[in-house]
Amino acid sequence: MSCGRDGDLGGPTEKCGVVGASLAGRDAARPLYYSLYALQHRGQESAGIVTHDGFQQHDHVSMGLVGDAFTEADIDGLKGSAGIGHVRYPTAGSVDKSCAQPFTVSFKSGSLALSHNGNLVNSDEIRDELAGKGHAFTSDGDTEVIAHDLARNLLEEDLVRAVKRTMNRIHGSYSLAIMHDETVLGVRDPEGNRPLVIGEVEDGYVIASESSAIDTIDGELVRDVRPGELVVLRPDGEGYDTYQLVERDRPAHCFFEHVYFARPDSVIDDNLVYEVRRELGRKLWEESGIESDVVMPVPDSGRAFASGYAEAAQEDGSNVEFAEGLMKNRYVGRTFIMPTQDERERAVRLKLNPIKSTVEGRTVTIIDDSIVRGTTSTQLVRLLKDCGAEEVHMRIGAPPIIAPCYMGINMATREELIASDKSVEEIREAISADSLAYLSKEAIADALSVSQSDLCLGCVTGEYPYDIDDEETDRDVTRPVIDGASD
Ligand code: SF4
Repeated sequence: MSCGRDGDLGGPTEKCGVVGASLAGRDAARPLYYSLYALQHRGQESAGIVTHDGFQQHDHVSMGLVGDAFTEADIDGLKGSAGIGHVRYPTAGSVDKSCAQPFTVSFKSGSLALSHNGNLVNSDEIRDELAGKGHAFTSDGDTEVIAHDLARNLLEEDLVRAVKRTMNRIHGSYSLAIMHDETVLGVRDPEGNRPLVIGEVEDGYVIASESSAIDTIDGELVRDVRPGELVVLRPDGEGYDTYQLVERDRPAHCFFEHVYFARPDSVIDDNLVYEVRRELGRKLWEESGIESDVVMPVPDSGRAFASGYAEAAQEDGSNVEFAEGLMKNRYVGRTFIMPTQDERERAVRLKLNPIKSTVEGRTVTIIDDSIVRGTTSTQLVRLLKDCGAEEVHMRIGAPPIIAPCYMGINMATREELIASDKSVEEIREAISADSLAYLSKEAIADALSVSQSDLCLGCVTGEYPYDIDDEETDRDVTRPVIDGASD
């Protein structure tokens, strides 16, 4: 779903989370609702659930956090043992309900509902073609394009063939939860760019963006959906069937899911995110460890990196202390108003406050997962120095972000990215740190036990796994030709 704006502290932001469930003998709405709570970090702008009771669809889609989007009566009204859900991050400039999901459409062969995490790079071409054939679109989102394309294919093909046909036309990243009448499907794009897992609960099966959503409803993770695979949950929770619809030589999993987006308690592509982050922290020490009195995370996402970093340092004989030296105010919402530059610069101060006794008169290493624009890092370094830190060293658990993301992550534009035209030394100078080091791409691949070529590293290399206008690719990839597209 093409959407996004900057996060609280200027970090990249994930754009969507998807779930689907097919259960025996009970309504799916409540477990879906709890699963969406578990995926709230993947999108806070809108939340929605669509269910099917064997006769008709029921839907409730609303703006806001999951807890605000549904009342008890809303959940009770969502009848049926099959359903899908979605949490969404907003489209820049278009924070309205027309883009909220799941997206629903009724057509001659029944009803469809779709939840999408990811971003298509050829949705305009498909939209033009379908519009030329009489399809009327109500939003500017790519999810509607997938829904219309699938609906069209379902007029001529069975469900599995129709999905395959759509997969052969759309190009980009997508993890989808789809419901066709009361049949729930999960689809992961052929590069496996965005995560999607299958889980089992007492009376049925679920699919979700992250395994933490399955844990929340007392389910067991079965496995990741494979790149290019379709999973069809049988009605009434009786099992599932899988179809490998598209094969590729190698995947392009988004490495940033592990570094930043996913919950630490989720398992993605066989890796527990928390352990990956600790391992990345250990590698950060190996590659660029520096002696200091104290090492502290930038909360919350730097925490696992910092504990791995400190542990590896202590094993090497360092006396560095691991401390939570930055306290986060959890009650500052995303939308606090900062009309002037001066007030914007206070944003970090509103969010984070150092513990003076941990910092004063000491040398400090702070660990963060990424630097996007550099504004937050600059403010953090100043904050710690104002608090009496003698030196502030910064270590980052990912390589420098030099290019935007076209796959559904809001990463800022090239012009806004501090590393797009500055060396590490220039960035260090700009943020006034005493030293600065990033993690290597090799360390990321090692920590995930995969080859670099099986990852999407587009934002740190400028080479993407998809055929994107005016950008380089890292593999032999061609965009599907769409007949009838205007260009
Ligand atoms: S460009 Fe970066 S954030 Fe986007 S999918 Fe690739 S690795 Fe993930």
